[in-house]
Amino acid sequence: MKFLDSSSSEVDLVNALGAHLFKKFPDAVEFERCVGRLDAKKETVTAEMGVIWYDVYKFMQATGTGLIPVGGGCPTVAPPGFMLGGGYSFVSRSYGMSIDNLLSLKIITPDGELRHIGLHSKAKEDIDLFWACRGGGGGNFGIVTEMEMNVRKPFSEKMLVGQIRFPLEKAEEVLDYYNDWVEKIPDTMAVYGFMGNQKDLVDKTTNVKVLGLTPVFNGECAEGIDLLQGQRRQHHEAAIALAHDRDGGGVDAGLRAEPETRPA
Ligand SMILES: Cc1cc2nc3c(=O)[nH]c(=O)nc-3n(C[C@H](O)[C@H](O)[C@H](O)COP(=O)(O)OP(=O)(O)OC[C@H]3O[C@@H](n4cnc5c(N)ncnc54)[C@H](O)[C@@H]3O)c2cc1C
Repeated sequence: MKFLDSSSSEVDLVNALGAHLFKKFPDAVEFERCVGRLDAKKETVTAEMGVIWYDVYKFMQATGTGLIPVGGGCPTVAPPGFMLGGGYSFVSRSYGMSIDNLLSLKIITPDGELRHIGLHSKAKEDIDLFWACRGGGGGNFGIVTEMEMNVRKPFSEKMLVGQIRFPLEKAEEVLDYYNDWVEKIPDTMAVYGFMGNQKDLVDKTTNVKVLGLTPVFNGECAEGIDLLQGQRRQHHEAAIALAHDRDGGGVDAGLRAEPETRPA
């Protein structure tokens, strides 16, 4: 796509604002990041596109309402690609997919029209387009300029967020236990997994291959830790655990505390 800048020389417009292309483009139009509006009464936020989730989180934090969006776990991912593709959030077990919380959006369709579509839509074409935008993927139906979404009040003031790491060679044993355990835990506990290289917690100059479990508990910290005890006890000798609460402070139960890493 080509746009003219103020001096009438052509520049490329890049339809990508988030994780995969989060870098400077030579000759590209630069957008200023802006967030939007919070309606604390309705518990909704309207975000202008150009933001990444990190901006939305900082914006919501600054409101002091304690409300959170159902957004991405990786702060450099952006709402459009994430939400248009469905969006599985760290709090999705409590509040559904990100698109379950999408109320409306503004989109410029290929005919050049700016449409405001959403749950309020009456025209069949708009209803169909909104349906397609909720899971149909980024970049397929037009350029989204604004998204209105629910924001949610967590069940406790401090959520438990952490990570339990196991040496990769223990993966089969840990996942066997995990598969049984995860069926019994409440929806307020979400546990994500990954395999890969992580810094050794003792010798930070080396990397170790790990299976990581990332619990996010939408409730009281102590209750979340209780739920995790079985998982830790089962593999006591194998588990290297660390955890922190939402403010980056340590939590009890002998878990090691490390500050959160945030983008500059
Ligand atoms: C580190 C990392 C962690 C992730 N974790 C999760 C996770 O926990 N849950 C999950 O569901 N997904 C996750 N994802 C996947 C992520 O949701 C997708 O990669 C998503 O497409 C990223 O969207 P973006 O807008 O940041 O990326 P971009 O690369 O900017 O865009 C993705 C697509 O959307 C299009 N697009 C961008 N802006 C607009 C716009 N304004 N209007 C219309 N189309 C647009 C682009 O053209 C492209 O096709 C993760 C990705 C990464 C890199």
